[in-house]
Amino acid sequence: MSLADFDRYPLLFGPSPIHPLDRLSRHLGGARIWAKREDCNSGLAFGGNKTRKLEYLVADALAHGADTLVSIGGVQSNHTRQVAAVAARAGLRAVLVQESWVDWPDPVNDKVGNILLSRIMGAEVRLAPDGFGIGVKESWQRALEEVRAGGGVPYAIPAGASDHPLGGLGFANWAYEVQRQERELGVFFDTIVVCSVTGSTQAGMIAGFAGQDRPRRVLGIDASATLDETRAQVEKIARDTAGRIGLGRDLRDDEITVLPGWAGDRYGIPIQSTLDAIRLTGRLEGMIIDPVYEGKSMAALIDLVRTRDIPADATVLYAHLGGQPALNAYHSLFS
Ligand code: PLP
Repeated sequence: MSLADFDRYPLLFGPSPIHPLDRLSRHLGGARIWAKREDCNSGLAFGGNKTRKLEYLVADALAHGADTLVSIGGVQSNHTRQVAAVAARAGLRAVLVQESWVDWPDPVNDKVGNILLSRIMGAEVRLAPDGFGIGVKESWQRALEEVRAGGGVPYAIPAGASDHPLGGLGFANWAYEVQRQERELGVFFDTIVVCSVTGSTQAGMIAGFAGQDRPRRVLGIDASATLDETRAQVEKIARDTAGRIGLGRDLRDDEITVLPGWAGDRYGIPIQSTLDAIRLTGRLEGMIIDPVYEGKSMAALIDLVRTRDIPADATVLYAHLGGQPALNAYHSLFS
């Protein structure tokens, strides 16, 4: 079986844009940096990486006759906001369990940003007290049971649409999209920088790139602060996805890299390097990134280019995975 054999429910505008970050590249004085923009990949509620993954999960949900998407994340989850948008687009209901993943005591944390957008789009939003964890949660199982008990047909989407048989397909597809765009642009991205938490974004990329001729480095940047768990999930989903799309060989260990160093101590809490990266990217490029995910992967990119761990002759593709709506809950950091 190959990737093309899986049903896909189109949600994106088309290939997401790729453009150079010239002022940032010049400022850092090393590798040439480009960005591929999942934050403007669709017209659905500010887009993001999950919209791409959901193209495959929603096709499966509809094939199974589901009428309600049931998912889970933190209060400011970008993922659940994208589930709400995709449900609206597909004419389905959405039930979202929003756990207390981040101890962020701002009084508007559960009112603005992602959760506000999910409410506007008609999702049933349930606040739950449980803390951070990317595994299967009881609150989510309970929500599924309740939809069934009410006569609905739920479709279960785990945190980040990751620990799901189809979770890696969206970004395997992204890897082939990059290859086509490289031909059009006349460039080759030898290094990809991507933020990792629930794992299927990076995992899908690894599986998709592994089937291509020219090798490249896919540098996952941990933003979970639970590195072992995230690395294990990336590895599991990458191997599973590679098998599913017919790679025809096992992935090597050196194809799976998740780097620590920029997450700080806790998921969802920015550190100085995160805030510096957000300001620098905004001021040099007018490109907005968030304090939970992309601020951390951009901080890594900046350091790796400066230290020449990414060599000066490299051509880097920064995967911008979205996430800006959460900034509203972090307004106090920028006042
Ligand atoms: N960047 C953003 C903006 C996200 O919302 C997420 C979601 O968790 C990630 C990065 C990490 O992606 P993944 O969970 O697939 O590892």
